[in-house]
Amino acid sequence: MNRVVIKIGSRVLTEDGEICFRRLRALVDLIAEIHITHEVILVSSGAVASGHTRLPNLDNRTTANKQALSAIGQAMMINRYQQQFDDYNITVAQILLAQDDLNSLSHSHNAKQAIETLLQNNVIPIINENDTIVTDELLRGDNDVLAANVTNFVSADELVILSDIDGYYDLNPKEHSNATILKVVHHLSDEELNAEMTPGDKFATGGIVTKLKAAEILLKSNKTMFLASGFDLKGIRNYFFDIDNAIGTLFVNKDVL
Ligand code: ADP
Repeated sequence: MNRVVIKIGSRVLTEDGEICFRRLRALVDLIAEIHITHEVILVSSGAVASGHTRLPNLDNRTTANKQALSAIGQAMMINRYQQQFDDYNITVAQILLAQDDLNSLSHSHNAKQAIETLLQNNVIPIINENDTIVTDELLRGDNDVLAANVTNFVSADELVILSDIDGYYDLNPKEHSNATILKVVHHLSDEELNAEMTPGDKFATGGIVTKLKAAEILLKSNKTMFLASGFDLKGIRNYFFDIDNAIGTLFVNKDVL
């Protein structure tokens, strides 16, 4: 069975500062379908935004407040996922990781074993940055990079990133109406990887650059990454079930194709 990591951005999961149940439901429906033929691991953002719905007056710009909101929001997110996946008799498991955990031998061995056990038992692990104790990733929005590292860590075949944008464009599509989507990317330049961050809203922290950094990690390990819309799930649906009509950007080495 192919193993896939699916990363869901905070913009996809929230709308006007609230959790967007409609989109969460649509995602769960699709993931349950993918889960029939794939081992699925989710990397889900959205904890800070979820927590903010409970404490809307707390300034979500300071690190300490973000961490507090995240502590509230993590539990809310996992509960919501479980409620929705219950309709499919699918159990989810929460794993909070710091990048350091992936590097530390003793921690990583234990985490790997736990994830293997979950997958063998048809459970969907939902991984997020342990925001309450980690600060640098929270500020940099590195769930994209975390997702790429997780993909390598669990020896998954590929990573799918669901974003508020339906792919990687030759120009920022929010600023250039003539921007065109790049369907396949084999190589990323230093200039692209070091461009300024362009997050789409106040809860999105990375922007396209952290997605490109994630893609670079996977290109280097001869794995693929597919960037697609989390708003219109046709792109990712077709990627799994009707590849010729997939909408998104596939990052892949020439020799893997
Ligand atoms: P998410 O919260 O889903 O992780 P982000 O808002 O962090 O998403 O990043 C995606 C945003 O990056 C897009 O909505 C767009 O505004 C911006 N962006 C800048 N340049 C590009 C580009 N060349 N192609 C696609 N998106 C771009």
